[in-house]
Amino acid sequence: MTEKQFHREVQRWVERFRLQEWDVQTEMLEGEGVSNEDASQVLFYKGHLALIATGKSGSAEDQQLSALHEVLHIALHRLSEIAHRVAKKLPEELRAEIDEQIQMAEEATVIRLTRGITELLEEGS
Ligand SMILES: [Zn+2]
Repeated sequence: MTEKQFHREVQRWVERFRLQEWDVQTEMLEGEGVSNEDASQVLFYKGHLALIATGKSGSAEDQQLSALHEVLHIALHRLSEIAHRVAKKLPEELRAEIDEQIQMAEEATVIRLTRGITELLEEGS
C-alpha cells in the first residue's frame, strides 16, 4: 500500500465514524518488524490533531487493519482522556495501575471492534 492509499483508507474510516472534527495525518515508516497490528500507533496532539503511523513493510491487509484499529483509538480518545483525568485525582500508588487498566481496556475494546467490523465486511463481500 502506498502512503496515499493508506491515507485514503484512514480518511474513509474517519468519515464512516463521523470523526470530521479530527484532523488525522498519516505517516508510513521504513523498517522491519512493523508488519503486525501492534506496529502502528496513533499520536495525539493538542486540539483534534492526530497522527497515525504504520510500517511500510507490512502487507496491505495489515495496513488496512491498522487504519481501522488506529481510527477506533481516535473514536475512543475522549472517553480515555476523561478516565485518565479522573485517575489523576487518585492517590499516587493507585494511579499508575488504574492508568494501565484504562489503557488495556481501551486496547481490548479497539481489538474487539476491529475484529467485529472486519468480520462484518468479510460477510458482506
Ligand atoms: Zn491499539
